[in-house]
Amino acid sequence: ASRAAARIARRLLRAARDTVVAHVDELGELDAVAGDGDHGIGMLRGLTAAVEASGKAQEATGVRELLQAAGDAWSEVAGGTSGALWGAALAQLGASLGSPEELTASDVADAVTDACTRVVELGGASPGDKTMLDALSPYAETLTERVRAGADLRSASTDAAAAARAGADATAPMTPRRGRARPLAERSIGHPDPGATSFALIVDAVAAVAAS
Ligand code: ADP
Ligand code: MG
Ligand code: MG
Repeated sequence: ASRAAARIARRLLRAARDTVVAHVDELGELDAVAGDGDHGIGMLRGLTAAVEASGKAQEATGVRELLQAAGDAWSEVAGGTSGALWGAALAQLGASLGSPEELTASDVADAVTDACTRVVELGGASPGDKTMLDALSPYAETLTERVRAGADLRSASTDAAAAARAGADATAPMTPRRGRARPLAERSIGHPDPGATSFALIVDAVAAVAAS
C-alpha cells in the first residue's frame, strides 16, 4: 500500500508538470504584470526536477521519502519564492503522510493542512495578501470539510480544486502585500496572483487524475 501511494504521488507530479507546461507562458505573463516574469519558467524548472527526483527514487521508496526528494529538488533548482514554498510544502506533505500501509482520505486532508501551515510559517502571508495562500488555504479547508462530511478523496479533491480556482480568481482585485509584486502593487490590481493561479491549475490536474 505504501508503494501504491508512492506510485500515485509520481503520477500526480507528472500531471502537475504537464499542466504547467501547458500554461508556462500565461503564468510568466501574469508574473510580469507586477513581478519579474519568471513564475512560469520557475514552476516548470521546479516541477521538472521534482518529477525527475521522484523517478529516480527506488521502487521500494515510500511516499514520505519520495515527496521529500521531490520537494528538495524543486526548491533547489527553481529559485524564487514559489520554489522555496512549494519545495517545503511537498516535503511537509510527505513528512505528515509518513509511509503507512493504508492512507485514508482524512490522512491526506490532514497532510494538506500541515503543508498549508508550513507555507504560512515560511512565507508569513495571511489570506488576502494576494499570494498562493489565497488558493491553498481554501483548498485545504474544503478538502478537510468534505472528507469530514464523508466524501471520498476523489469528490473531495474536485470540490477543493474548485475552491482553489475561486480563491485564485478572487485575488484579481486585491493589492499584493507580499513578495516581489509589492513595489508595483498597483499594476497588479485587476490581474490574479500568479502563484495562486498556478496552484489552482495544479490541483485541478491532480483532481482530474484522482477522478480517472
Ligand atoms: P519570485 O517572486 O521570487 O520571482 P515566483 O515568481 O516563482 O517567485 O512566485 C511568485 C509567487 O509566489 C507569487 O505570485 C505568490 O503567489 C507567491 N508568494 C510570494 N511571496 C509569498 C509569501 N510570502 N507567502 C506565500 N506566497 C508567496
Ligand atoms: Mg517571479
Ligand atoms: Mg524571480
